[in-house]
Amino acid sequence: MLNLVIFGPPGCGKGTQSARIAENFGLIHLSSGDLLRDEIDRGSELGLQVRSYVEKGLLVPDNIILRKIYKSAIRFINSSGIIFDGFPRTMVQAIMFDKFLKKKNITLNMVIFMMVERAELFKRLRGRAEDSERKDDKEKIFNVRMDVYEKETHCLKKYYIRQNKLLKVSGMYPVDDVSEKIAHAINHYRQKNEIFSDVI
Ligand code: AMP
Repeated sequence: MLNLVIFGPPGCGKGTQSARIAENFGLIHLSSGDLLRDEIDRGSELGLQVRSYVEKGLLVPDNIILRKIYKSAIRFINSSGIIFDGFPRTMVQAIMFDKFLKKKNITLNMVIFMMVERAELFKRLRGRAEDSERKDDKEKIFNVRMDVYEKETHCLKKYYIRQNKLLKVSGMYPVDDVSEKIAHAINHYRQKNEIFSDVI
């Protein structure tokens, strides 16, 4: 299996890159945001529970997301690998996820950290807010998501550096260039079992 995590600030392009990585390497794309939006659209019990958090740009409680991710991941335990997009997003989630992986004897191979400057994120948001159907793409909510990212998620960088798993990717380049760089880094990892330490 090749198991990856991708994270970064809102609007960094992790959804697009995850879909491409999944396609290129035959992985399952597990997006926590998509899973939650699907529950909300279906009006399920879980959807009703998480709806207001998602719409306000706040994080869904750890226990809820952990349960949902475990359940989804278990379904794909015999696949060629999974890219976890948008999970983990807090230290608690990261620690609990490690415990889960250990128990299931699954290795997390690499954590892709997408780096994009703040001004660029807001520029992209203005470009996409008009066409986006996502309520949480509106500027006020986007600010909340950005604050939440900085308070809760950014610290994962240190956590995964300590585990020697962090691949730092500049998301400031055109989408195709970023995909190419990531694909190169994944191929390098597969051949040499080594993660580039410099920003790619
Ligand atoms: P995303 O599509 O990754 O931007 O996620 C959209 C929204 O879903 C977030 O703003 C949160 O409300 C919720 N969400 C997604 N992943 C998580 C997570 N790992 N923990 C808590 N909430 C999450």
